[in-house]
Amino acid sequence: MNRSRKCVFVSHCMLAQVVMAKGLVKHSPAIVKQVVQFCMDNDINIFQMPCPELLCAAGGLGRDVCGKGWYEKNGLRETSSLIAKEQVNLMVKLIRAGLNVLAIVGVEFSPACAPSYLNKGRCILKGKGIYIEELERELELQKLRVPFIGVNQRWTIKLKKQLSEILCQKILNQVTGTE
Ligand code: SF4
Repeated sequence: MNRSRKCVFVSHCMLAQVVMAKGLVKHSPAIVKQVVQFCMDNDINIFQMPCPELLCAAGGLGRDVCGKGWYEKNGLRETSSLIAKEQVNLMVKLIRAGLNVLAIVGVEFSPACAPSYLNKGRCILKGKGIYIEELERELELQKLRVPFIGVNQRWTIKLKKQLSEILCQKILNQVTGTE
């Protein structure tokens, strides 16, 4: 059987909700089924990135919810930078080996993994998590362009649409030779 060469990089908690901070697991007890189902339906390999808040010395399992500002002062930038370097190096190797890295799937509102929106307590504002910023920096250094998708389990239709659009665009690019 031919192996699929399509893959996505996902935030750790997408396949292991147990690593999330206290009180945040509301929609799925273990995995984010929409993402996994989409990958199963489209034969996409899933690369699970390490959880920066779990590995950060000030974080860990069963941690309380804290904001980006707090994590910025408590070591998440350093932890995120190390993980981002490793993960982008892996992406480079995979791409050189002919794999197609379709997207990086992060988690909206997370102070580490949010690609577009942060939770500021009483309001939601546009902004990125610390780990996403570090990934972007590494991707730029390596001159790689990989799109980001933000998962919010309440926006399931939007999520599926975004994943489908990226998949179609990548396939189109390959057909037209622009990739
Ligand atoms: S830091 Fe990222 S991987 Fe870890 S629980 Fe938060 S969103 Fe998930």
